Amino acid sequence: MKKLFCLLSVVALMLLSACDSATHVTPSTDQVQFLIDGGEQIVDISTDGRWSVKDCPDWVKTDAQDNKLIIKTGRNDSGALRKGDIVLTGKNVTAIIHVMQAAKCTHITPSSDKVEFGKEGGTLTVNIDTDGIPQVQASDGFTASYANGVLTVTAAPNVGAGAGRRGEIKLTCEDQSITIYASQKSNVCKRCGGSGKITCPKCHGKGWYPIEAAGGGAACERCGGRWNGFTDDTSDWKDGTGRISCPDCGGTGVGS
Ligand SMILES: [Zn+2]
Ligand SMILES: [Zn+2]
Repeated sequence: MKKLFCLLSVVALMLLSACDSATHVTPSTDQVQFLIDGGEQIVDISTDGRWSVKDCPDWVKTDAQDNKLIIKTGRNDSGALRKGDIVLTGKNVTAIIHVMQAAKCTHITPSSDKVEFGKEGGTLTVNIDTDGIPQVQASDGFTASYANGVLTVTAAPNVGAGAGRRGEIKLTCEDQSITIYASQKSNVCKRCGGSGKITCPKCHGKGWYPIEAAGGGAACERCGGRWNGFTDDTSDWKDGTGRISCPDCGGTGVGS
């Protein structure tokens, strides 16, 4: 069955293609994963000529077309995770696509239930012990993917002035499900706590300051106050806000 199908692919390609054998055959991915129910996946093939499917597992069907390979599997009733390789050939070149299909999943056990990123972000991995192929969902701010027993989680730099990020990575496989908690430190300016403002050092936040010689006070111009001069007329008096732009972050609230 397998041989026949692979052979048909080869014959079809030979009939369709008048060009020379490919000197490179590069699949867009070197692995495809199917859930227990199977289905169809398409892998793009970058090539410069004629290529063919040389070998494939007996539970996999392939359909080789000019620049793509259609891969199909039926339901996996074998009771075990199955793995195999599809081998593509051109002229003295081969490429391998690993194929996996889940059986019934009985457990998903992570090496850690959390990933913690610094404000600069990056990529972290968690080893996953499972007999299935978990589907992965990540909440906003994080991306995650699973392959070959490793969960890879990526966080972009957290450059805003807001709080740190928190999220969840959910892995599910049939009736099994686990959650890995993701967190990322924020990039908040330590001096102003992200507000971009600090208490005015001249008036200590009051918006005005006393002038003992005059027995009165003055609106604090440092934090936006206004006052015309030493007169009893206070109609043009305006208190300052008591807050000035944070000198460490220039008012942006973003830390270094
Ligand atoms: Zn600041
Ligand atoms: Zn002030």
